Amino acid sequence: LLGAYGNELKMSVYVVGGFVRDLLLDIENYDVDIVVEGNGIEFAKYIGQQFDAIVVPYEKFYTASVIFRDGFKIDVATARTEYYEKPAELPQVDISTIKKDLYRRDFTINAMAIKLNPSEYGMLYDFFNCQKDLEQGIIRILHNLSFIEDPTRMIRGVRFEMRYNFKMEEHTLEVLKQNLEGGYLERVTGARIRQEIEKILEEDNPMKAIRRMTNLNMIKHIFPKTYYTQTMDEKLARLFKFLPKIKERYQSVSDFYAISTILLEYYDKQTLETVRARYGYPKKFIESIKFTENIMLPLKEMIELRLNFSDIYKVLGKANPYVYLHLSAYLTDEGQSYLLQYIDTISSTKLQTVTGKYLMGKYSLKSGPQINEILEKLFAMKLDNPNIDEEKVVSEIIE
Ligand code: ATP
Repeated sequence: LLGAYGNELKMSVYVVGGFVRDLLLDIENYDVDIVVEGNGIEFAKYIGQQFDAIVVPYEKFYTASVIFRDGFKIDVATARTEYYEKPAELPQVDISTIKKDLYRRDFTINAMAIKLNPSEYGMLYDFFNCQKDLEQGIIRILHNLSFIEDPTRMIRGVRFEMRYNFKMEEHTLEVLKQNLEGGYLERVTGARIRQEIEKILEEDNPMKAIRRMTNLNMIKHIFPKTYYTQTMDEKLARLFKFLPKIKERYQSVSDFYAISTILLEYYDKQTLETVRARYGYPKKFIESIKFTENIMLPLKEMIELRLNFSDIYKVLGKANPYVYLHLSAYLTDEGQSYLLQYIDTISSTKLQTVTGKYLMGKYSLKSGPQINEILEKLFAMKLDNPNIDEEKVVSEIIE
């Protein structure tokens, strides 16, 4: 239908990029990217009218999103060329338009289009031997300046290698290494780097991708003072084991922050400040990394020895999820499940009858540190024994 509407507007309409790649690989993909030769926003608005869908235009980029009533979304882009100023006189212009659009893409496997207009419906447009690369499992750039044009493609390359078990082609790899050493990744904003890393971490086997980035010497260009060692590798692997359990409990946990707890270990203050500014870590996060570093080894011991929660609480307190994650990287499987028990006990334990108000009323205490101290002490005791009689115990504490 999209193609038929394209005909009505006299525009060629293609589905492009990841959707075509995955279609040819027989993999499900619901990210539909449409490119039209013509005005993409006009096309999107027309589609919106036909289907009574919501259209969100981005005028600056000549793109738009169309959101259908069932929630399904397609993105529409305009194949950008001089085409608008001089309406097509020769039919080749159409072809070169989509061709140019595809040439600007990251890798050959993502640079195919399928036409949707009825007369050519389903026709594959493959100008750069893309299908062959796809069949042979090769990640190849379209031209030598590709990584300079957009250095985040270096990270994308690793992502596609890992996801499909493909390999970057030799020349591509060589250009990548050159541009990496040329410091091009450092020129990109931290936000974009972070986005690409987050995408890698969402893939099935993030450890494999991190190792690949290490082998390519890429990590150093993202985290300047990180020396990836065997120990660091083991810690990250342990952290990834614990990560899903933390995510069940704290929905907003970011994978990027999670690995940062390990990758930023041993950073001096100044470099920490530099990466903080670059990647936008909150100050609190950086503080908690520092806090965790100092108590890590004693805590590891305490947990592995299965000390009482109340003793662990004195050192660890009610920490944030990144502190727990950082700690988990140091623990055995059994240690991790003990830590999880600790986390769950902390969040389910509440003082029922004894409160600040209760202490002020019954013992005429003034609000301040003393009350807090008593409440903390009582809370710690309750962690070990949920059935304590709070009022009785507090009277003993006060005496
Ligand atoms: P995924 O399956 O992870 O969504 P995708 O290939 O669909 O992968 P998107 O980031 O959604 O990735 O991008 C859609 C298409 O846009 C890609 O297939 C590619 O053709 C193009 N593209 C995306 N990012 C870049 C980039 N940095 N440089 C060039 N082309 C890009």
